[in-house]
Amino acid sequence: MKHFPIFVALEGRRVVLSGGGEAALAKLRLLLKTEAKLTVFAPEPAKEIADWDAQGRLRLVRRSMEPGDATCAVLFYAADEDDAEDARTSAIARADGAMVNIVDNLGDSEFITPAIVDRDPVTVAIGTEGAAPVLARAIKADLEARLPATLGPLARIGKAFRKAVEVLPMGRKRRDFWADFYFNAGPRAMDQGGEDAVQDTLPALLDKHERVQERDGHVAFVGAGPGDPELLTLKARKALDEADVVIHDRLVAPEILELARREAVLVNVGKEGFGPSTSQTDINTQIIEHASQGAQVVRLKGGDPTVFGRLDEEIEAVMEAGISWHVVPGITAASAAVASLGQSMTKRGRNSSVRLVTGHDMKGFAEQEWASLARPGEVAAVYMGKKSARFIQGRLLMYGADRATPVSIIENASRPDQRIVPATLAGLVNDLETAEINGPALMLIGLAPRAAEAALTDIQQEFA
Ligand code: SAH
Repeated sequence: MKHFPIFVALEGRRVVLSGGGEAALAKLRLLLKTEAKLTVFAPEPAKEIADWDAQGRLRLVRRSMEPGDATCAVLFYAADEDDAEDARTSAIARADGAMVNIVDNLGDSEFITPAIVDRDPVTVAIGTEGAAPVLARAIKADLEARLPATLGPLARIGKAFRKAVEVLPMGRKRRDFWADFYFNAGPRAMDQGGEDAVQDTLPALLDKHERVQERDGHVAFVGAGPGDPELLTLKARKALDEADVVIHDRLVAPEILELARREAVLVNVGKEGFGPSTSQTDINTQIIEHASQGAQVVRLKGGDPTVFGRLDEEIEAVMEAGISWHVVPGITAASAAVASLGQSMTKRGRNSSVRLVTGHDMKGFAEQEWASLARPGEVAAVYMGKKSARFIQGRLLMYGADRATPVSIIENASRPDQRIVPATLAGLVNDLETAEINGPALMLIGLAPRAAEAALTDIQQEFA
């Protein structure tokens, strides 16, 4: 981050701008929204600037800037659209102690003006450090569409009521009140009767919240998907939004944890495949402790919580403690891995069932129904299979699988660093070793990337 976003208090402070043309107008339109004391230096100002001066909204000085003109100014804008003049005026302003912005000159500016979504007092500032103004505009348009125009008045009315809400204990109760106001009662009252209705609704709403019982703790077992935050379900996002505590695995990507409510406590109970880990009993204890204290707990698991996630043990512990719970399914790693190959899990004429298998279980390498897995056309997704590749290869060959059976290894499926290593059963162990896989990886037995498969069919036809 080369530029740190801050909101500068401008009420009653001096802001100076040099320039009287289009660039100056664009900046002044923004600055006039603030409560700063604006001074504009321009020998030939646009008519609007003269009008604003006449209305007392700024002070216009009809000459070029001179040393001392920016004394006591916090901010200075060089907006003459002339490199030499901008350099001259900004040198004066710098000497006078102001922070300088030169319009359309990122390199020589000490601060830059973001794209702004204005729902005063709610203000969203969007910056790309000059890298992608198009992107900033697109994000702005998106937010403009999403944030109702009534958000500003709601926030203003809410702010004036903050003191009264202090009768509620800090923490969840107060947050519940405000969530109810901003997302439920407030917009409804605004629709029905405007700002007056919003004012009227507040005391009743506060009364209601003073009377409600403390919410009971609850545990949501939530699937975080394979890594790409866009593969989270809307329900998962909602649960993260409401969470007091998020207890997550090592597999859950940081981008996804970012989506948790800002005040949420994040607890990493990461289980390393073969390394140190928090024991299952410890995890159960932590879940129950938090929920018993009334917390909304999200137990966030990579992929789908129902797939190789020891979900049942956690549910049983939670039930035994008398705590309510529910499961939010997620996209399992196999779905993401298969999608990355451009293949399907099942296919008419090839396989009518698919198996999710684990490379190891509590006793070591996991035994499977090898005879059926070794049949041509079978598809299996092997989770946690990195260490057991040699064992799986040996068993399948022993049960008569074709040495040329395709096996695809997908590392970091759905993530920016996703890697696909196409192999065959015969070459599996070697290919895994040379590929140096460090991230979570899945083996898809019986599937090759569609492109590679098509190329292979062409060659076979050529030699037929
Ligand atoms: N509940 C998870 C699986 C947990 S077991 C799910 O539904 O996906 C952990 C194993 O999942 C890892 O060892 C790896 O084999 C697989 N895995 C999880 N995320 C993955 C990803 N993004 N890419 C490839 N494999 C992944």
